[in-house]
Amino acid sequence: MKCRVCRERASIEIRRHHAVFCKEHFFDHMRRQVERTIHDYRMMAPDQRLLLGVSGGKDSLALWDILTDLGYEVDGVYIELGIGGEKGYSSSSRLLAEQFAKNRQLDLQVVDLADEYGFTIPEAAKETRRVACSVCGLSKRYVLNRIAHDRGYDVLVMGHNLDDEAATLMGNTLTWNMEYIGRQRPVLPATSRGLVRKVKPLLRIAERETAAYCVLKGIDYEVDECPLVGGNTGIRIKEWLNQMEAKRPGMKQQFLFGFLDRASDQFADAHQEEVELTDCTSCGQATTSGECAFCRLQVRMSDGG
Ligand code: SF4
Ligand SMILES: [Zn+2]
Ligand SMILES: [Zn+2]
Repeated sequence: MKCRVCRERASIEIRRHHAVFCKEHFFDHMRRQVERTIHDYRMMAPDQRLLLGVSGGKDSLALWDILTDLGYEVDGVYIELGIGGEKGYSSSSRLLAEQFAKNRQLDLQVVDLADEYGFTIPEAAKETRRVACSVCGLSKRYVLNRIAHDRGYDVLVMGHNLDDEAATLMGNTLTWNMEYIGRQRPVLPATSRGLVRKVKPLLRIAERETAAYCVLKGIDYEVDECPLVGGNTGIRIKEWLNQMEAKRPGMKQQFLFGFLDRASDQFADAHQEEVELTDCTSCGQATTSGECAFCRLQVRMSDGG
């Protein structure tokens, strides 16, 4: 296989683009895809204060690398979730994120859920008897937004990739969750006080490509899976979509971008009419009920824990 640009030996094939690339032209391709996504959806500008949610995994580290190469100044924030004990999943992911930032002299801020809010994810899952990913997702969304808002950032950048977004859309479509489908956008504007604009520049990049990018660039990332992933239905939907993709390359992209191009506005309009937001009575962040879900979780953890 030869690179489609320079005809040198290829390092990667991207079947949905009918393309093979050598290492350097693959990096070029990744930068161009991210640049195009930022441009098409008017996500952000280099003079804005940007904060990236960093997990230590392949997606967020590849994105931090690409954005830096594209000339964006981006700070990172890592949330210590307390998963896996002293030398477990959270501490090893944190170490990899810290190493990456240190090697490139980037600013990584660490927020410890236990120190700041009084509980870890395993404790919250146990106390609430909910699937860990559900309390984890709620906590990450809340804390990332809070940090971005309180520390004066204009845009919160997220590392969700094509596989994540296609799986989320499929999951919400299978259950016809109109509210969540209405919220699935490449850019979530800061519609209410306390909410920071949220963007997803990896929308056109598949999971396998961020992994290849990290390997070829020599970026060390967390390869182990989170030990609490068991109850996550998104993983099973991803496996299913991957089987379809193997038979029909491009299917995932077609599904997601068909929705974004042709249907998402209608869902978003319907959603806006349905939901009225008020300020959380405890923290002031926009919510649909009196006290936001995170504040309720925090109260429950301090009462029960
Ligand atoms: S797999 Fe679930 S519990 Fe683990 S980090 Fe991801 S969302 Fe959190
Ligand atoms: Zn090449
Ligand atoms: Zn609140």
